[in-house]
Amino acid sequence: MSGPDLVVVLRYRKAVTYGFHVLLGALEEHETTTGFVVHFGDTPESTAAHIRAAVDGGSRVLVLWSFYSPDAAGLAGELKRIREIVDSPLVTHVAGGVHATAEPVHTLDAGWDLAAVGEGEATLLALVDAKGDPQGIPGLAYRDAAGNLVRTGKAKQRPLGDFRGFSLKWDKFNALEITRGCVYACRFCQTPFMFSARFRHRSVANVRWHVDQMRARGLRDVGFITPTALSYGSQSEEPDLAAVEELLAACREGIGPGGRVFFGSFPSEIRPEHVSREALRLVKKYCFNNNIIVGAQSGSDRVLDAAKRGHGVEEVRRAVRLGVEEGFRINVDMIFGMPGEDERDVGDSLALARELADLGARIHAHTFMPLPGTPWRDAPPGDVDPATIREVDRLSQRGALYGHWQKQRDHAARLAAVAEAYPRPGRSRTILTQVPRTGAE
Ligand code: SF4
Repeated sequence: MSGPDLVVVLRYRKAVTYGFHVLLGALEEHETTTGFVVHFGDTPESTAAHIRAAVDGGSRVLVLWSFYSPDAAGLAGELKRIREIVDSPLVTHVAGGVHATAEPVHTLDAGWDLAAVGEGEATLLALVDAKGDPQGIPGLAYRDAAGNLVRTGKAKQRPLGDFRGFSLKWDKFNALEITRGCVYACRFCQTPFMFSARFRHRSVANVRWHVDQMRARGLRDVGFITPTALSYGSQSEEPDLAAVEELLAACREGIGPGGRVFFGSFPSEIRPEHVSREALRLVKKYCFNNNIIVGAQSGSDRVLDAAKRGHGVEEVRRAVRLGVEEGFRINVDMIFGMPGEDERDVGDSLALARELADLGARIHAHTFMPLPGTPWRDAPPGDVDPATIREVDRLSQRGALYGHWQKQRDHAARLAAVAEAYPRPGRSRTILTQVPRTGAE
């Protein structure tokens, strides 16, 4: 039996479909002499079955994995199980995404053959051309036959419009990425590290093309992926509302009378200082959502300064009040356990959470995680003391507080263990920015 040159198997999990769809969007337009097919492994077992069939057909196999840092340990276990079912020199397991980018050596040590470093589109296309041979392809880390670590640098960052934001050929759609990268430098966040500290926006014309494709297939809902929704079209910290309106008007018109546009709601967040009546009225005019997500992160100005958030607590209050006045349901993201946070800061965050809940906001609580690639990668894992947990629970019972903060405490501890096992030169767990309290306190 003879199969194609290359079989690409996606370990296709719900949590990472978007990243895969973007890769498929790039792949479907790619002209290559390599004959290839794509299969979707929805479970470890089906992934192993696809690999087995490809190996039996004599094809080379690229198995694509993508995961966030908190999932790395669990998926390493899954990879091991798959290798126990089927393993062959024809098979290459490739890990991409932010964890592989930030911790390539940990990724290789955990069992993957290749770590894709940086944005994956161009790297995948080059790997397909080379039928899975990594030599000379930028954006990879791997060990050569002698076991030496080879790093080929970060993949080149291309304009967002170079590749499709979803896949027509494989019929895989998702919220459309309109902005990649971020000019802010919040110390807990992986986005600027992964995608650069500047914005790359998808043009309105390119977005409209995607919306037209969706409508032609009977899809009705247009949503967006962006680090900061009201930064669309801007290259600075100032929103460009004319660009936002152009985008929303084009989407509204494109998706037609039966369609719905969502902006500033999950998975796109709004920075509090960007919230204005004018911006909210644009959302109301063109969009279906009556809720927005505002990133507050802390109720302590001291902690916000340490995290380099670039806004204070007052902007959060103002944003929530304005949002409520304009008739929106407001979801507020908060992080507990950030480095340097003390009892008074926790008290301030809880007080803010109560105040905003009284205004009608829903608080989305997170535990700080020392994420790879971030300035706080070597910080201690976030911990939330029992009194805070009780208060969080109490607010939760009011229906005002939701989130996965307990699970994140466990993730945080695991990430800290990885950071300790893979130290960065010149860094130690004790190097943290501490912002002193001011004299008034
Ligand atoms: S938290 Fe948001 S605003 Fe801050 S760096 Fe990350 S993406 Fe940018």
